[in-house]
Amino acid sequence: MLTTLKRIVQEMIQIPVLDEALFRLTTRVKQTTSVDSCSIYLADYDNQEFVLKATDGLARESVELVRIGFSEGLIGLVGQREEPLNIENAPGHPRFKHYPEVKEENYLAFLGTPIIHQRRVLGVITMQQGEMRRFSEDEEAFLVTLAAQVALEITNADIRGALSNTSVDASPRQKNVRGVAGSPGLAVGKGFAFDAKIDLRNWVARKARGDIDEINAYRTGVEATRKEVDNLSKGLDEGIPEDVKSIFQLYHHLLDANSLGREVEAKIHQGWDAASSLKMVVEDYAARFQNMEDPYMQERAIDIIDLSNRILTNILITVKGQKVERKTPQEDSILIADEVSASMLAEFPAQYLKGIVSVRGSNNSHAAILARAMGVPAVMGCQNVSPGLLDEKEILLDGYAGEVIVAPAPSIRSEFLQLIQEEQVLAERIAEEADRPSESPDGWKMSLYVNAGLSTETEMAGNSLSVGIGLYRTEIPFMLRERFPSEQEQVVLYRQILESAPNLPITMRTLDVGGDKPLPYFPISEENPFLGWRGIRLTLDHPEIFLVQVRAMLRASLGLNNLQIMLPMITSVSEVKEANRLIDQAFYEIGDEIKGQQLVLNRPQIGIMLEVPSVLYQLPQLAKHVDFFSVGSNDLTQYLLAVDRNNSRVANLYNCYHPAVLSALYDIVKQADNYKVPVTVCGEIAGEPGGAILLMGMGYRKLSMNAYNLRKVNWLIRNVSLKESKRLLSCALTATSHEQVFQHINEFLEQKGLGGLIRAGA
Ligand code: PEP
Ligand code: MG
Repeated sequence: MLTTLKRIVQEMIQIPVLDEALFRLTTRVKQTTSVDSCSIYLADYDNQEFVLKATDGLARESVELVRIGFSEGLIGLVGQREEPLNIENAPGHPRFKHYPEVKEENYLAFLGTPIIHQRRVLGVITMQQGEMRRFSEDEEAFLVTLAAQVALEITNADIRGALSNTSVDASPRQKNVRGVAGSPGLAVGKGFAFDAKIDLRNWVARKARGDIDEINAYRTGVEATRKEVDNLSKGLDEGIPEDVKSIFQLYHHLLDANSLGREVEAKIHQGWDAASSLKMVVEDYAARFQNMEDPYMQERAIDIIDLSNRILTNILITVKGQKVERKTPQEDSILIADEVSASMLAEFPAQYLKGIVSVRGSNNSHAAILARAMGVPAVMGCQNVSPGLLDEKEILLDGYAGEVIVAPAPSIRSEFLQLIQEEQVLAERIAEEADRPSESPDGWKMSLYVNAGLSTETEMAGNSLSVGIGLYRTEIPFMLRERFPSEQEQVVLYRQILESAPNLPITMRTLDVGGDKPLPYFPISEENPFLGWRGIRLTLDHPEIFLVQVRAMLRASLGLNNLQIMLPMITSVSEVKEANRLIDQAFYEIGDEIKGQQLVLNRPQIGIMLEVPSVLYQLPQLAKHVDFFSVGSNDLTQYLLAVDRNNSRVANLYNCYHPAVLSALYDIVKQADNYKVPVTVCGEIAGEPGGAILLMGMGYRKLSMNAYNLRKVNWLIRNVSLKESKRLLSCALTATSHEQVFQHINEFLEQKGLGGLIRAGA
């Protein structure tokens, strides 16, 4: 069954036009299952109706004409119940409604299954049979499995179709693409796909105006590609491995007119343009390779696609005269990439960067944290789009709601611009009070620290408020290199940071790689990286890396007295003891090295991150071995809720306002106060307006956040009394969900005159 299913879905994917793909699907289902009819209805939410989109077995002329209300008939019932409906005699069912246009009088048995994607009913797929019978369990399971796979394809095809010009003259229509709120704020700009190379996968099939021109275009594209491939293979020396040579042999074979060419030209004769014909044939080939057992042959699918992308590029450049060059960023750009990286952001001119869309990742991926640090609105995890589809499109980006509006209608655009203006007015109000102390009207003093390290320039810029760095993430300089930085290289870097604020505490965290922060030169391949070898686990297993880093920190601090060292991902007391032992070793080594010189080495304070739930139950023991605690609410949320912070599929479940997370945070501050260990929160919640108020209500006095949010949080603290924050906290702690917590926060902010501009969780 699985093979049949795979084949049917694969065939459907090959057909770039959704309506045609759905037709093919119904035909293939009817053939393989021997039922009398298979049909697909898609939901039209604007009109609250299901529309018959494809059928093999009902009257074809009724396609697009038959519309069934969401609460009507058996189709409506399947949609309402969101489960399969298997009926022996459909006309005898109380919900049966007769639609004469579809001509289903001869069918008695009915099986309908909803097509659902991310909890939303997209449509209904049905099988019908003349005889009166109940469909078997196998048939039901088949249809349910098929519907689940088709749901994803429908979503993808719908977005691709809306964002592309499917006919030569059409322009894209407005389309809202959902993602996850990555960094708050609103932005208007033009899509700039960082690495949008020409890719057949993004090509939407078009009909051509004449086949002779298209055949010539295809042949010219192939010729240009053949020359490129010849040049490439000539450039290879004798010593290259056989498998690389064989790729070129495969290329030559495919470029042969009797191979791909014949099939592509046949498609062109059917009315498609050269590029679309190439796409259809190549994706079919690639699918066949991908379905082969042998992993080597599966890999060849990639080669075929790669070669075809070259042909497509040549068709577009040499034949159609399209300009395909590396673009330079323009003003008001919305950067779009599969996965936005720190180096990508470093390369992009900050003055042009209005917003960020990352296809992968979630709101606590490090790309999102970096976006927040830069104050650039971002939407993460837009799973159904590829960067090329948003390239050059006008985009409204809502970093609060996690929504990207492509090719907006004029009324939506002007509403958006109005909101942006209102935000600016508020920002000015906040800026006026930026230098005033962080103290609530009833005298609760807060210390606001900066989180730094993700990007060196933006974070400390122009912030006179901060009382130091609460978290310096050392991993980024490691990630941007091609090897581990030497001790001396690290000394230079850390010295700069320590000297930038010699009288303020600077908390440097030891290397926290692994998870979503890989080192290119130290690959770790794990099934479950966030539960794997990361943070202190990795560095304790490699004392040579840990010791070099700690030695570098200590040497950088010579003559200064502001270094604090923080250990990430601590799970147990033994890790702290081991790390302390190594820090002691480094301390004595450096002490020995500077003997006789006029240099002073001060002993740094040592603290740990509280981000693994186990430590919540060992705080009394841990308190004896450390000078301070710092709560990493980002990871604490991930591990308490068992939700991967980087996985956009479960991003709606990842929320640090979950009442359980809030209770844990509350518990930590009470225990830390009890054991007289200073405690900071350095996870993202500390820099969010709602979060900062709740933390104040819990009794935290130290928050560390990105420099961008610092002013906003300072302003809020100055405007909210401790008493008010405690009242808000007690509502939040007794809430049943993070949504309810947000509601309380929003109401509270509303009363304070902040409207929807500083939204909960933003
Ligand atoms: C955290 O986990 O809350 C934290 C501050 O560290 P990071 O986001 O770098 O994992
Ligand atoms: Mg962490």
